[in-house]
Amino acid sequence: MAILKIVYYGDPILRKKGKNVSSFDPSLAQLAKDMIETMYEAEGIGLAAQQIGKALQFCVIDLREAEAEFTYTFDGSTPPMDLIMPLVMINPTITTTPEPVTIYEEGCLSFPGIRGEIIRPDAIQVNFQDIDGNPHQISCNGLLARCIMHEVDHLNGMLFIDRMEKNVLVPIEREIKQLRKKTRKKE
Ligand SMILES: [Zn+2]
Repeated sequence: MAILKIVYYGDPILRKKGKNVSSFDPSLAQLAKDMIETMYEAEGIGLAAQQIGKALQFCVIDLREAEAEFTYTFDGSTPPMDLIMPLVMINPTITTTPEPVTIYEEGCLSFPGIRGEIIRPDAIQVNFQDIDGNPHQISCNGLLARCIMHEVDHLNGMLFIDRMEKNVLVPIEREIKQLRKKTRKKE
């Protein structure tokens, strides 16, 4: 297993839409293991392929350490969380219910130290494939829904700062620009 390097805002890969995954081979399983390990090491609850430098429809999520209430069904039933997490989500597509919405302060491993409140729908349905290519469906709300929406945004080249209201974004704009500058200098 390997800890992968997480890329920061300013790296152009974060703006790339991920390619659909069509080959469910051992190298994909290895990538999943490495991304899960990298997410744990960084103490994150989700990590998208773009964040480790690959533009793929591929992300990992684990909310077992997060103190949050949410409900979910996985393929129509509610198995214990240990059976579905870490969650490897491949080629996910989300359907949201526009109302109700919730406000929650999000962070992102590609934006160290930067947080901001974002309005998102509370409940979603997501269709995706697992590491063997089998299709699944999750219906959920709360932090699980929010985390999936945040990660799936990454897979489409969208970042949480794009979803911040102006009054949230303005106070942290300088920090964001500094991060971008620092990242670009390193390249
Ligand atoms: Zn993120």
